[in-house]
Amino acid sequence: MATPDLSRPVMTDGLGRAISYLRISVTDRCDLRCRYCMSERMQFLPKSQVLTLEEIALLADMFIARGITRIRLTGGEPLVRRDIGDLVNRIGRHLGNGLDELTLTTNATRLADHADTLFDAGMRRINVSLDTRDPARFAHVTRGGDVNAVLRGLDAGRAAGLAIKINMVALKGINEDEILPMLRWCDNQGFDLTLIETMPLGDTGEDRTDHYLPLTAVADMIADAHPLTPLPQRTGGPARYHAVDGMTARLGLITPLTNNFCTDCNRIRMTCEGKIFMCLGHEDHVDFKSALREGGLPAVEPLIDRALRLKPAAHDFRIGAGEGAATRRHMSVTGG
Ligand code: SAM
Ligand code: SF4
Repeated sequence: MATPDLSRPVMTDGLGRAISYLRISVTDRCDLRCRYCMSERMQFLPKSQVLTLEEIALLADMFIARGITRIRLTGGEPLVRRDIGDLVNRIGRHLGNGLDELTLTTNATRLADHADTLFDAGMRRINVSLDTRDPARFAHVTRGGDVNAVLRGLDAGRAAGLAIKINMVALKGINEDEILPMLRWCDNQGFDLTLIETMPLGDTGEDRTDHYLPLTAVADMIADAHPLTPLPQRTGGPARYHAVDGMTARLGLITPLTNNFCTDCNRIRMTCEGKIFMCLGHEDHVDFKSALREGGLPAVEPLIDRALRLKPAAHDFRIGAGEGAATRRHMSVTGG
């Protein structure tokens, strides 16, 4: 067992879970409108309500000083935020000095313009969302996106030296026939693949029940063709990994519905409005932005402990007839 580093501060929640992972949503905006994530006519926040990059950097500094060792930037689409490279550089300065890892989740439509900047700032791996490689299906799922922009982004990311994991939301009747081909393609490209169950977050104007695909059945289907062996290693997030017989690609499964992973949750999330959510599936939060704007960092510090006490034991996602969204917040607001 690894020896804990006693020189580092540790944050623990009210249930004794160590909190070391912060996801920061840097914007609620996006250039795509994925059907399971957003409604077609999303109302985005006015600029004055969104944290400035300087405010995000200050809060990140504070969290690192309190014991956060991994940060993932997300959104919305983080690469549509202007000057995102400056923020990555600023947070990247903590790498090796309190911060162990800085990562990003992106749709990759603009990755070709940013890949070198990310690598130069110390980022070494990223997650890219890609539910289908078929141009017409991609345009359907994202309501108008161009899959070729994503594929160009992926090439640029790999050329820059970034390790890439593809995130694919498993959607019944939309991409279930592409799951095995996607795994084989990822293996050829040198990427890992993580499959995600669709979660009931925010109104999208569509019924997610229609496309919900439990990953237990998907894993059985994959294992028939390529036996799977569970791997002990974790990457700080909710995915459970498997070695795939005959492949170097690892298969991750994120199963909030069929296999809740809350007991060892180490994560908190900060929205682009500076709200700290302790759980993706609950509305409880603490507002850091008002405190920061009124009293600076000294006013924010005590709120961290209040937030830690609010972390619930588990989310309560269900997908079934008559179930509405678990939260009114879209995934793009809290940050995936
Ligand atoms: N725009 C970036 C992207 O798509 O990678 C980052 C933000 S996006 C909200 C982060 C991840 O959340 C994506 O992998 C997306 O597929 C996933 N996601 C969004 N809404 C979801 C939902 N309702 N259920 C499950 N995953 C969802
Ligand atoms: Fe945008 Fe990502 Fe949501 Fe798709 S999943 S709409 S790319 S934020």
